[in-house]
Amino acid sequence: MKTKNNRFDVVIIGAGVIGCAIARELSKYKVNVAVLEKEDDVGWGISCRNSGVVHAGFNNKPGTLMAQFCVEGNKSFAELCSQLDVPYKKIGKLVVAKKKEEIKGLQKLKQQGDTNGVDNLQIIDLNEVKRLEPNIEGIAALYSPETAITSPYLLTIALAENALDKGVSFFLNTEVKSIIRLNNSHFRIKTNKREFTSSYVINSTGIYSDYIARMVGINKYRIYPCRGEYHILDKNVSWLINHLVYPVPQAGVGGLGIHLTPTIDGNILVGPSNEYIKSKDNLSVTSSVMKVLSSEAREFLPLISPGYIIRSYSGLRAKQAPSSEGGFWDFVIEESGIVNNFINLIGIESPGLTAAQPIAKRVVEIINKKERLDFDPSFNPFRKGILRFEEQNEETKKTLIKQEPDYGEIVCRCEKVTKKEILEAVNNPLGARSLISIKYRTRAMMGRCQGGYCQNRIMEILRESFKLSPQEITLKGNNSYLLTGYRSNEVSKSCQKEKLLSLEEELLV
Ligand SMILES: Cc1cc2nc3c(=O)[nH]c(=O)nc-3n(C[C@H](O)[C@H](O)[C@H](O)COP(=O)(O)OP(=O)(O)OC[C@H]3O[C@@H](n4cnc5c(N)ncnc54)[C@H](O)[C@@H]3O)c2cc1C
Repeated sequence: MKTKNNRFDVVIIGAGVIGCAIARELSKYKVNVAVLEKEDDVGWGISCRNSGVVHAGFNNKPGTLMAQFCVEGNKSFAELCSQLDVPYKKIGKLVVAKKKEEIKGLQKLKQQGDTNGVDNLQIIDLNEVKRLEPNIEGIAALYSPETAITSPYLLTIALAENALDKGVSFFLNTEVKSIIRLNNSHFRIKTNKREFTSSYVINSTGIYSDYIARMVGINKYRIYPCRGEYHILDKNVSWLINHLVYPVPQAGVGGLGIHLTPTIDGNILVGPSNEYIKSKDNLSVTSSVMKVLSSEAREFLPLISPGYIIRSYSGLRAKQAPSSEGGFWDFVIEESGIVNNFINLIGIESPGLTAAQPIAKRVVEIINKKERLDFDPSFNPFRKGILRFEEQNEETKKTLIKQEPDYGEIVCRCEKVTKKEILEAVNNPLGARSLISIKYRTRAMMGRCQGGYCQNRIMEILRESFKLSPQEITLKGNNSYLLTGYRSNEVSKSCQKEKLLSLEEELLV
């Protein structure tokens, strides 16, 4: 945090991929920016609960912002990831027709993609499908070599760290409770912690963006949560597919159909489902949908077996289209007509991850038109992430261990994460220290055992290296303590230290 006072030129509410991309884009100018996020870390909303696909742009209706920003985002994504040291792979995608009637759907998608400016789309026949994907069942496909994959949470973290480095202030665990308009162009923002004042407010709160807009009297938006559930398959079956494999999308459905997505880390995702729900917080996974995922995936990939599943999760689409209509409404990125200097980002559903940078540029354009922002020539677009020991060659590994013995201790055996990487994750510049923050930064606890082996060791490292008592460590901030026992404020000072130490010993045995 680089400022002591709470007055900013721009306050961004929400540190998802969109809020963080806007923060980074604004950090190129001489403006005083703050990001307020209710969670304990950045990217814990929809931005860590998606497919991680860098879409090419053939699914979106020509002439929409979705189509324009998806194509622009796709074309500039490799450069963005290389600047920010974020993994990216252009592996290509197949939209597979299983029966003759679906081939028309492929042609329509190709035509739409060509109109949107997507490069290199081609319709391929059964032989070519089998050559590219020997395990997939289908009779023809639309092949999109420009579709890529990335890590959505590492990208969000990287955007935030790059912005932070350029002076943007991040306030985590800071939930906006109300917004008062002080005059034509100033706001007072009340949070669970303190108050902020600002000339501009940017509402990038994803699924909650209608609720935040209502705080200043803008009632015209409504967001319907639409849940998508996924299975994650073990890395040891990554050989099953080489590309993203999608069905032909159905009209009036809120998603693109249950697909198979290789992740940047070598797992395969099966999903997401498509179910309008009432609550904006309900991230459950349900046995009924889980069964549907497995059976639909088997139609493409008969080799899938339940034993390959290591975990399930869900994400919520921020849909503007009600369930009676389904489908996709265009992104809304606008300064409200009734509240000056209040910029809303509404309905940023898929392909929001792909389009994050063009969306951020559009927001800055809106402000720039009113303020003529001064470019800051000291802006440095580059940022370095945590070095993945496992990805280095044997020679480099030996040198690293010599220079830094903590590379010599493997903490997470499934994902082969070293103690040095854990330490770097805990030392992250945003100051996020929960186990989930460590997990997203290193992949520790993401393997088949899901932390069964390494979680205790990670807590021990937090105690040894950062003097954190195990009772203070949380899974994901707030009150998500992992261990019960004495909390420091409940024990008298004289016996506190002794009791804690003996309790810690017991718990860590
Ligand atoms: C199932 C699924 C699959 C998807 N797959 C893809 C894909 O493969 N490719 C792609 O391009 N896009 C995909 N998307 C879309 C993409 O994930 C989203 O467009 C993108 O993540 C939206 O980011 P955001 O920053 O707007 O929202 P979020 O990441 O949800 O960020 C909003 C933030 O606001 C915070 N917040 C909310 N209320 C408050 C408050 N009162 N005070 C402070 N902070 C607050 C939240 O905690 C959250 O961190 C998918 C989406 C879903 C649901």
